[in-house]
Amino acid sequence: RAKARGGNRFELADPELDERAITRHGLTTALPAALERGEFFIEYQPLVHMGDGRVHGAEALVRWSHPQHGVLGPDQFIPLAEHTGLIVPLGRWVLQEAVRQACDWQQHRTESGPLRINVNLSPAQLQHPGLVKDTVAVLERAGLEPGALCLEVTESALIGADEGLLQPLRQLAALGVDIALDDFGTGYSNLANLRRLPVSVLKLDRSFTKGMQQAPVDPVDLKIVEGIVSLAHSLELAVTVEGVETGVQADRLRELGCDTAQGWYYARPGPPDQLHTLSLADAI
Ligand code: C2E
Ligand code: MG
Ligand code: MG
Ligand code: MG
Repeated sequence: RAKARGGNRFELADPELDERAITRHGLTTALPAALERGEFFIEYQPLVHMGDGRVHGAEALVRWSHPQHGVLGPDQFIPLAEHTGLIVPLGRWVLQEAVRQACDWQQHRTESGPLRINVNLSPAQLQHPGLVKDTVAVLERAGLEPGALCLEVTESALIGADEGLLQPLRQLAALGVDIALDDFGTGYSNLANLRRLPVSVLKLDRSFTKGMQQAPVDPVDLKIVEGIVSLAHSLELAVTVEGVETGVQADRLRELGCDTAQGWYYARPGPPDQLHTLSLADAI
């Protein structure tokens, strides 16, 4: 980044920026070995039925327990893994581990329906030709019914998607796997386009519900969410809301007809036994 300027031939590069670049480089080169050494782990965040407060499943969220940097969140390494292609084996590991965990919950569960598992898919995984085959193999090996799995794809990954990209998702949906449109509302997609996508769930982005954390709730936010819920329901899509942090938010979103919710108000992402405990409790 050093560049010629005036009498000084070189200007010092921004030291912070350099440090970030070095860290990024270090993390990128460490990724493959980290996968082999088993440094990744998954936290599970409960998904709650708004109607009765019951836990109906969980979203798998990957973390990296880095030997020097401590626990890193997905925003710090998923983009790097995407860039280098490691996301494909990493994503496969997450799927395998999360599906295995879901089977484990199902075996121990006594009442209400079986717990479902949501797994995030990144754009590079969507484009990988082995996606359908790998997913089916993971489900079969674990013995989980496809209907217990929901794959989350961001709205922005599907904007302008051609049939070639949608085909694997259609195949998975035909097998009974649910497809959710993640971070919905941030991608400026054409609403009419929704009909064309093989999705059965909209995950409404946190930004829409921020204005509802405390009373008085922003009336425009209410109207927008109300409109999205009614559109989604008329297309027979279920609505999940992300980032529910307060009781005020939960009450309003329930009144607006949202089906399921996820957020710190209910539970933070945590170890798998949290799910087991919560799901056996009456409701949260
Ligand atoms: P996402 O799929 O939209 O996941 C929800 C994010 O919101 C998670 O962040 C979660 O910890 C956070 N969150 C949940 N409840 C609340 C709340 O009440 N308030 C606030 N402020 N935040 C809340 P996290 O775990 O850092 O994950 C970030 C993103 O990384 C995810 O966003 C997802 O896009 C991606 N990601 C996570 N795991 C995987 C994975 O296994 N594969 C891929 N491809 N992407 C992943
Ligand atoms: Mg997600
Ligand atoms: Mg999301
Ligand atoms: Mg989000």
